[in-house]
Amino acid sequence: MSVRVGILGATGAVGQRFIQLLDDHPTFDLAAVTASAESAGKTYREAAKWRVNTPIPDDVAEMEVAETSPAGVADADVDLLFSSLPSGVASEVEPAFLEEGYVVSSNSSNDRMADDVPLTIPEINPDHLDLIEVQRDERGWDGALVKNPNCSTITMVPTLAAIDEFGLESVHVSTLQAVSGAGYSGVTSMEIIDNAIPHIGGEEEKMETESRKLLGEFDGAAVHLHDADVAASCNRIPTLDGHLENVFAEFTEDPSAADLRGAMEAFESADLPSSPDQLIKVFGDDEPERPQPRLDRTYADGMGIVAGGVQTTDDGAKYNCLAHNTIRGAAGASLLNGELLVEEGYV
Ligand code: NAP
Repeated sequence: MSVRVGILGATGAVGQRFIQLLDDHPTFDLAAVTASAESAGKTYREAAKWRVNTPIPDDVAEMEVAETSPAGVADADVDLLFSSLPSGVASEVEPAFLEEGYVVSSNSSNDRMADDVPLTIPEINPDHLDLIEVQRDERGWDGALVKNPNCSTITMVPTLAAIDEFGLESVHVSTLQAVSGAGYSGVTSMEIIDNAIPHIGGEEEKMETESRKLLGEFDGAAVHLHDADVAASCNRIPTLDGHLENVFAEFTEDPSAADLRGAMEAFESADLPSSPDQLIKVFGDDEPERPQPRLDRTYADGMGIVAGGVQTTDDGAKYNCLAHNTIRGAAGASLLNGELLVEEGYV
C-alpha cells in the first residue's frame, strides 16, 4: 500500500526532519512540500537552508515548493498531510485543509488541548485517536486533525506512562532543552552561547497540561485528564539537539528504584513501521552520568526515550530522561501518528 503525503512548513527545522524520515519510508510517498509565500515557487533546494546531517534526497531537492493552502497542494493528490507550521499560522491554515477533507497530523501547538482533538503518542494512548469521530460530528468536516505533544512533554510522558502503575500522584520536572527546539530563527547565538535561559514561553504550561491529557482516560466521548499534579520548569541550554529532563515523582505506592527501572524497560512499544523495538532504554547505577544529549539522542535512530539515574527519595523517586526533540519530539512523533492513522483506517 502506498500513501501520498505532503508536508506543510517543509523548509523549517521540523520540516527537514520529516523529509529525512520520509526518505525510503515503506508506505509514505512524498508528493507535496509547502512553505511561506517567500519560498513558494522555488525549488526545495533553493528555498530550504538544509541543516540536517544527511543530503537532501535528489527527488525532493527539485520539487517545487507550493503555497500553504488547499489550492497549493490540490494537484498533488495527497491522502495525508504532516504539519510543521508556526502555531499562529497553523491555527489559521489547518482548518482550511480539514474543511476540504484532508487528514492532518500536526506538530503545531494550536488545538492540542481542544476537547475534540486527539493528542496522541501511539505507544501511550492510541485509543484516543477515535476522538476523531467526535471531532467530525462537532465540526462537520470530513477531514481529521491529530496532534502530537510538545517536544519536552513527549520526552517525559512515556516514562510516566510506564510507572503510572505505582499510582502516580505528582510530577515535578526541570528541563535542559536544545536550541533546535526554538526553530531556525528562534534563539540567536548571542543569546545562547555561554549561557542558559531559565524560561521558554508557554513551554511549562504545555508540559503541565498535555501530560495529563496524554495519560488521561478516553471513554468514547471525551478524554478525562489524569489527576496527577504536574509542575514544570523549562530551561534553554546551548546544545543543538536533544532535550534532557530531571523528573521528581510521587506515588500512592512505594516502588523501589529496581521496580521503576523494570517498568520503564518492559514498557511495550507499538507495532508501526517507525516505532523503536524498545521504547525506553534505561541506564543503570553503574552509569550515573547517562543519558547525555550528545551521546544518547540518536538511540533507536532518534525515535527512542533514554532514562537513567533512577533513585528513590523520601517522597518518591527521581530520574533523568532524554529524547531527540526534532525526531521523537516532533517530526518522528507526527510520522508515527500518520502511521497510526493509516493502521486505524482514517487514511
Ligand atoms: P521553523 O524552523 O521556524 O519552520 C517554520 C516553517 O513554517 C518553515 O517551513 C516556514 O517556511 C513555514 N512558514 C512560516 N511562516 C509561514 C506562513 N505564514 N505561511 C506558510 N508557511 C510558513 O519552525 P520549526 O522549529 O520547524 O517548528 C514548526 C512547528 O513545530 C512549530 O509549531 C513548533 O512549535 C513545532 N515544534 C517544533 C519542535 C522543535 O523541536 N523544533 C518540536 C515540537 C514541535 P519558510 O522557510 O518559507 O519561512
